[in-house]
Amino acid sequence: MSAIETMHIDGEWRPSLSGRTREVLDPADATVLAVVSEGGAEDADAAVEAARRAFDTGVWPRTPVAERAALLRRTADLLQRDREQLALTESMDTGKTIEEGRVDVDDVTAAFRYFADQAVGTSGGRVVDAGSPDVHSVVVHEPVGVCALITPWNYPLLQASWKIAPALAAGNTFVVKPSEITPLSTVHLIRLLAEAGLPAGVAGLVTGAGDPVGARLSEHPGVDLVSFTGGLASGTRVAAAAAATVKKVALELGGKNPNVVFADACATEEGFDTAVDQALNAAFIHSGQVCSAGGRLILEESVHDRFVTELVRRARRIRLGRGTEPGVECGPLVSQQQLDRTEEYVASAVAEGAVVRCGGERPKPSDTLPATGYFYPPTVLDRCDRTMRVVREEVFGPVLTVETFRTEDEAVALANDTEYGLAGAVFSADTARARRIAARLRHGTVWINDYHPYLPQAEWGGFGRSGVGRELGPSGLDEYRETKHVYENLRPAPVRWFAG
Ligand code: NAD
Repeated sequence: MSAIETMHIDGEWRPSLSGRTREVLDPADATVLAVVSEGGAEDADAAVEAARRAFDTGVWPRTPVAERAALLRRTADLLQRDREQLALTESMDTGKTIEEGRVDVDDVTAAFRYFADQAVGTSGGRVVDAGSPDVHSVVVHEPVGVCALITPWNYPLLQASWKIAPALAAGNTFVVKPSEITPLSTVHLIRLLAEAGLPAGVAGLVTGAGDPVGARLSEHPGVDLVSFTGGLASGTRVAAAAAATVKKVALELGGKNPNVVFADACATEEGFDTAVDQALNAAFIHSGQVCSAGGRLILEESVHDRFVTELVRRARRIRLGRGTEPGVECGPLVSQQQLDRTEEYVASAVAEGAVVRCGGERPKPSDTLPATGYFYPPTVLDRCDRTMRVVREEVFGPVLTVETFRTEDEAVALANDTEYGLAGAVFSADTARARRIAARLRHGTVWINDYHPYLPQAEWGGFGRSGVGRELGPSGLDEYRETKHVYENLRPAPVRWFAG
């Protein structure tokens, strides 16, 4: 495969039909990391046609589920074989630390294995009691058809895998379009699927911009389902484009995620240390470029001063640098655009009365922080309130806002005061209180005394404008299956509904 043959259509690697290319940049210094094909609508069309043929006439939808599961397991093994290389690619492409890249590869491996098991375990169909011994009634699952899978830049390998593994397990064919900013690990993953023995045409890959490639896939009449992960604005466009042909649509969008900390969680030194540590973890992993980032710290007022002082002390010590360097804890933001956006949110917060307790300006360039890199330090904004833009909108950068509450009701009201509803956490030493709060939070994932873990066997997705549908868990597979009821009359006879 040459550098620019990054499109995979009908089992072949090829350049874009227009011959256009795009430079993929290293966010640590803005140098060119790779050159990839820049697809257009015509490439999307070609990929959908190939996936359509592979679905309508190919073997994959009719391949026994045990064989499909075996392919997923072989892919999982190959992901582990290439773990270091994939982690390095992900780190260089997105800016995240290489250790985070390794965690991503392990999570992705677990997802492939989970969907292999889940598909086998739920393939049998369900016999329904029709109320008559003369009727055999069964509900079965079938693949949806051709799936368009559109993914963002923050977790490229992981987001692609959360879609590809269940899509294949259910017997679909697909065309994946990774983010134009970070396409490299998806190219690697498609190579692994071919190596694992996936028949030609089942997996399509088109690299290129959201508009035209993602837009064309979303509206294409040959696509049966579009699964999109990304921002609210693009997701709304995808849903509108898909509506004309009544495609199935799954949307995993943004979040503005609350992390609620009660004073009782900080009553012991160990509890205090844990709550502060998890607040840092919630907000600053991958420099805050996580859909579930706990960017809103909602603190019980009585613990505010002590908590924020310690939080700021530790945030200042977080080591910024190139994600591949040993010891680095936060890499650069992914792009100039993301850096500008973060700066703009901090400026707007200050204009609205927030107090910068640490960070808040680009670091001075040095040997480890090249001037051309997109670095921004962990930033804590104190004295925030829910009217501020920085509290209401997704920043997607290393910015943590601090608000306070006095009562449980106030904490819940603040935590739910968002148009999103992806994830949130509550820290309390009082188990009953923590569960009470968790039950009232309108978010798709709630952590109690923890932040960020997820499990392949548990659903992931959002309330409100955080999306439609679920990934992972049984529902994550069901997104990619049609449900069919087969009713069989074992004693056929006229019904005589019409007398003549
Ligand atoms: P984005 O919406 O800009 O892009 C996401 C993908 O959509 C990219 O592949 C892009 O090329 C494509 N796209 C853009 N416009 C399109 C259009 N009109 N039609 C079809 N496709 C189009 O998002 P991003 O900046 O890459 O990622 C960040 C966003 O993703 C954040 O909002 C984040 O919260 C969200 N996200 C959500 C989850 C989740 O699980 N809910 C996970 C990761 C990221």
